[in-house]
Formats: sequence, structure tokens, C-alpha cells
Amino acid sequence: MNATAVNCNACNASLNLELSRNGICKCEYCGTSHNLSRELTLKVDLNNRQFAVLLCDTMNRNLGLVDLQEIAYTLSGLDSIVYYRLEWDNLPGSVKDNKCRELIQWCQRRGFLQELVEVLIQKRPLIIAELL
Ligand SMILES: [Zn+2]
Repeated sequence: MNATAVNCNACNASLNLELSRNGICKCEYCGTSHNLSRELTLKVDLNNRQFAVLLCDTMNRNLGLVDLQEIAYTLSGLDSIVYYRLEWDNLPGSVKDNKCRELIQWCQRRGFLQELVEVLIQKRPLIIAELL
């Protein structure tokens, strides 16, 4: 993992993303608050053809089945997604790797990769930082 992927805009110290809550990370040195949703989303290249593959690999390595389910549940409740009825039980597969790939493909097909990235930034920002 690239530990210096995200730096404070004010003092340039590395942000400790493990201390972030709901997408907000406070610099341990100068106290400046950072909106990770905005800052990390700008750095992620969703158009990179390898992005989904890398994301899947990173999610698989860092998340358990229960974590994935929680992420899917949060996604399913977003205003933009609720209509599409994302249901964990309906995603094919039972093994974690398959569920993870299916979740990502579900988002890709409907143009919701951005939303998936934002939920991850809120809940597990280190996963996204690893991709930068
Ligand atoms: Zn700072």
C-alpha cells in the first residue's frame, strides 16, 4: 500500500485514513478536516479498463463476506440505486470472490461504480487509497 497516497492540503503530512469517519479525515498534525469522498474520488480513474479488476482484487484481499454484504446493503439504499433493487442474495455465487466480482459487475453494468467507490471511501477508505 502506498502510505503517502493522501496528504493534508494544509501541511502536507500523510493522512491517517484509519482515523477517518464517514468519509471525513482529520489531519493528525494540523487538525485540518478533509472530505475524502471529494478528494479520493477525484484521484480514482474509473475509466481505466483495469480499474474494476484491481478493485475486485483489493476488495477480495481486504474484505470478508460480511463486509461485502454490508457494502452491498449500503449501496442498495442510496437514492440513486434503490430503484434498481440491488439484493445481496440475488447476486450469483456464494464464495466471496464470486460475490465480490458480481457486485462490481452489477455496479459497472448500471453505471454505479462511482457510488461503489464512494461507499468504500466512507466505510473502508484504505481500500481506495491502495488503488491510487
Ligand atoms: Zn495537516
